[in-house]
Amino acid sequence: MDGKRAGEIVKSEYKTKPRNRIIEYLKQNADIKFTARDIYNKLEKDGETINRATVYRNLERLYQEGKLIRYKESDSNATCYQYSENHGQCNHHMHAQCTECGKIFHLNKEFVEEFEEKVHLVYGVDVDCSKTVIVGKCNECKK
Ligand SMILES: [Zn+2]
Ligand SMILES: [Zn+2]
Repeated sequence: MDGKRAGEIVKSEYKTKPRNRIIEYLKQNADIKFTARDIYNKLEKDGETINRATVYRNLERLYQEGKLIRYKESDSNATCYQYSENHGQCNHHMHAQCTECGKIFHLNKEFVEEFEEKVHLVYGVDVDCSKTVIVGKCNECKK
């Protein structure tokens, strides 16, 4: 009886926290990029009652917390996200992405700062690192 009640409480709490459901999804898909729509579709398929605005709001918050990499895909112009718990400050450094496998590389801060400074000095452009993704082919995919 007690066990069942505890389970129910956990379940209802779980339901009120879409953030947890979203994070769970992100963790399961840490290696791939996704769009807000992907998450929405997945949660809806799982029988979750969640609205699109909630998904967007949570993604925005996670991005502000530095847990997500966010970028615009050049060919589709869709906003893509990728989860990156271990790197923390993903809104403060630049990323490189493999065009073949989609793998994300978190670029060294010092290296990026040097790059930023040079672009600023030479071209007068202040690079927005959090939105900048360099694309290319990774070592694995070159084999
Ligand atoms: Zn990062
Ligand atoms: Zn690759």
